[in-house]
Amino acid sequence: MKNFSNYNDYSRKENLSFDSKAVHGALGCEPLTGAVSFPIYQTSTFRHPELGQSTGFDYSRLLNPTRQELERTLAILEEGEYGFAFSSGQAANMALFTWLNPGEHVILMDDIYGGTFRIMTTIFGKYGIEYDFIDLSDIDAVKAAVKPNTKMIFIETPSNPLMKVADIAVLADIAHANGAIVAVDNTFLTPYFQKPLTLGADVVIHSATKYLGGHNDIIAGAAVVRDEELAAHFKVQLKSHGNGLAPMDSWLMLRGIKTLHLRMERHNSNAMKVATWLRNHPKVEKVYYVGFEDHKDYDVTCKQTTGFGGMISFAVDSEETVRNILKNTDMIMFAESLGGTETLITYPTTQTHEDTPEDIKERLGITKKFLRISIGIEDPDDIINDLAQAMK
Ligand SMILES: *Cc1c(COP(=O)(O)O)cnc(C)c1O
Repeated sequence: MKNFSNYNDYSRKENLSFDSKAVHGALGCEPLTGAVSFPIYQTSTFRHPELGQSTGFDYSRLLNPTRQELERTLAILEEGEYGFAFSSGQAANMALFTWLNPGEHVILMDDIYGGTFRIMTTIFGKYGIEYDFIDLSDIDAVKAAVKPNTKMIFIETPSNPLMKVADIAVLADIAHANGAIVAVDNTFLTPYFQKPLTLGADVVIHSATKYLGGHNDIIAGAAVVRDEELAAHFKVQLKSHGNGLAPMDSWLMLRGIKTLHLRMERHNSNAMKVATWLRNHPKVEKVYYVGFEDHKDYDVTCKQTTGFGGMISFAVDSEETVRNILKNTDMIMFAESLGGTETLITYPTTQTHEDTPEDIKERLGITKKFLRISIGIEDPDDIINDLAQAMK
């Protein structure tokens, strides 16, 4: 792993475990100076030695060394070939859906992130893309929804916010038999717990704002693929939309990723404790958490993931309890987003799923008594004590 002479001479570190790969990235240290913290190349353009020559870097919208280190690291961790770092998760989704041509059909998870719902209904619908929102944890429903022109199945698993689990391998088989691709939004579990490409998916998408960044300090997105045609697609999108992640934010994500494995373990064990506590609280009517053995998709979870993550949703007895929780929690913050070191509580019906129509939310169970909590890496007893006093 020593003495790399140039930026293309990097190692995929196949001999190392995930944890070490997360710490050491692709090049890891910078090849020219040996800087252990990969530098932030805060430059828009690059000087050429002479006519017809390039260092490999020309203009940062196309390629920037810091972003490239991040993109390679993402590809290594997801066990893909090509990574792309976007200015947001939604920018990554926009780049993904332009894969579809007018008249083609996409199937998406029915309780999908509200912003992804909006992208599909308000933007791509206008360009003649057909879509259906289906419960992807129901394989028969998916089979019934596939049409000859279905070219993509877009999976969010576990889904946001109802924590339904979709069987990636089974859905990949259904899609591929129809000539369609499968994209998986892997935001909730990250490659530490779930590697969709190894299960047959064609594209992994992230809101890297969440666990990959991990510190509630950047807005970022990512896509990882193995296939060259898909890679060429993302490259053109990134270059054309100009939505690549900036050098500083790329560096912050690289820094976040160095502790991904440690953070995910703690999110996971904290969430198990909090979910179990919530379930026994008299004011809690239902807890949505994929780590419960009686979760309807528990077998699928155990088959395709190595952990449950840090996300819990729950329904309480009244809107008054909702108001009390959102107002009276002290350490826990009422804020949108998830996946950071701090525990955040969200009210999906007016926040993440604001743009999902009322009737759909009602049918799905995203009611006015429904909350979502992103369990941070604090002491779990402090999280529980804070919820307990707020719910008194
Ligand atoms: C937050 C989120 C998004 C959107 O990502 P941004 O980084 O906010 O653009 C997409 N999907 C899921 C599952 C998310 O949680």
